Amino acid sequence: MTDVKAYAAFDPKKPLGPFKISRRDTNSKDVSIEIKYCGVCHSDIHQARDEWGGAIFPMVPGHEIVGLVSSVGSKVTKFKKGDKVGVGCLVNSCRDCSACREGLEQFCEKGMVGTYNSRDKDGTVTYGGYSTQITVNEDFVLRIPQSMPLDGAAPLLCAGITTYSPLKHWGAGPGKKVAIVGLGGLGHMGVKIAHALGAHVTVLSHSSKKQEDAKRLGADEFYSTADEAVFTTLGNTFDLIINTVSVKLDLNKYLGLLKRDSHMVLLGVPESPPELSAGSLIHNRRSLAGSLIGGLPETQEMLDFCGNHGITSDIETIRMDQINEAFDRMIKGDVRYRFVIDAKTI
Ligand code: NAP
Ligand code: ZN
Ligand code: ZN
Repeated sequence: MTDVKAYAAFDPKKPLGPFKISRRDTNSKDVSIEIKYCGVCHSDIHQARDEWGGAIFPMVPGHEIVGLVSSVGSKVTKFKKGDKVGVGCLVNSCRDCSACREGLEQFCEKGMVGTYNSRDKDGTVTYGGYSTQITVNEDFVLRIPQSMPLDGAAPLLCAGITTYSPLKHWGAGPGKKVAIVGLGGLGHMGVKIAHALGAHVTVLSHSSKKQEDAKRLGADEFYSTADEAVFTTLGNTFDLIINTVSVKLDLNKYLGLLKRDSHMVLLGVPESPPELSAGSLIHNRRSLAGSLIGGLPETQEMLDFCGNHGITSDIETIRMDQINEAFDRMIKGDVRYRFVIDAKTI
C-alpha cells in the first residue's frame, strides 16, 4: 500500500479538507497513474453534500482523472510507463453479464463500481481523483490522444462521454435539430460534440448571459428560457433534447418542444424527482429517456473522436484548496465551463 495525499468531504455540511488515503499495490493487471488533473463535476457536489443519499464518508470525489502511467503490473498489455491516460466514472464491473459483454459496463447487472463513493468487489471503499495517485485495473483505463492537452482532456472522462453517448444513441447528425438544455460542464461538451457530429444545435439556457459563448462553442441558435414565449415559438421543433440541468425544471414545457416521435434525454440528476403530465408525452408520441455516462469502448471512441476534431473542454484551472469556493461558484453558474484541479497543488 502507498500513502497518497488527497482531499475529502467528511460530512455533507462541512467543507472539504486534506486527507490521507492508501492506494493498493500494483496487481498484475493494474496500472498505477500519477494524477495530473481532475475535473470537477456537478455530481461531485451532489455526492459530497449527500444529495442523492447513501454517501460514504470520508469521500474523495473526482471522476474526470488524467495523468501519466507511473508503473504497470506484470500482465498489463495495453499500457506502459509514461503513457497519457484517463480514468472516468467507473473502475470495476463483473465483466460477465450481458451489459458488460456488450461494453456497457455502466449498466453492469451486478452493479458497477464507481470511481469514488462506492465499494469495490473486495469491499474496499473507492476514492477518486482529488488525489495525487490512483491504481486501476487496465480494463478501466482510457488512452488520451497524444495531440490533446491533459488539462482540457480531463472533463471528457465524464462530461464528454455523458453527452457523446446519448447524442450517438439517438442519432444526432446532419439534418437533425438538437437542443442542449443548460450550458454548464456537460452542456458545453454537448454543444461541441453535437456540432462536430453535424447536427443543427440550439442552446436553451436559463438566462441570456451565455449567448456569445454558445455561438463560439458551435451552437447555431440560442434562446433564454427566461422568456416564456420561447416555449410557444419553439413548439414541435426538435428531434432530440439533451437536458443537462442540475436542478428541477418543468419538464412538461420542454417536452412540448419535441417533434412527433422524438426524445428528450435526462442527464441531470436533481435532488428531487420531476413532475410529469401524461399529456406532454401522448401528444406527438414523445418519449422521455435517460442516459448514464458511457461504457469503456464508447468512452475510448469519444476520446478518439474529440482528438480527431480538436475538441477539449473550456476550463479554469484551480488549486486544490480552492475546491470549496469552486463548488459554490459552480452552483451559482460562475464557471466557463469546467473547473479542473491541478494535482500538483494537493
Ligand atoms: P454544471 O456545470 O453545474 O451545469 C448545470 C447547468 O444547469 C448550468 O450551467 C445551468 O445552465 C443550468 N442550471 C443551473 N442552475 C439552474 C437553475 N436554477 N435553473 C435553470 N438552469 C440551471 O453541472 P454539470 O457538471 O454539467 O452536471 C449537470 C447535471 O448532470 C448534474 O445534475 C450532474 O450530477 C449530472 N450528471 C449526470 C451524468 C449522467 O451520467 N447522467 C453524468 C455527469 C453529471 P444555464 O446557465 O445554461 O441555464
Ligand atoms: Zn461526472
Ligand atoms: Zn456486469
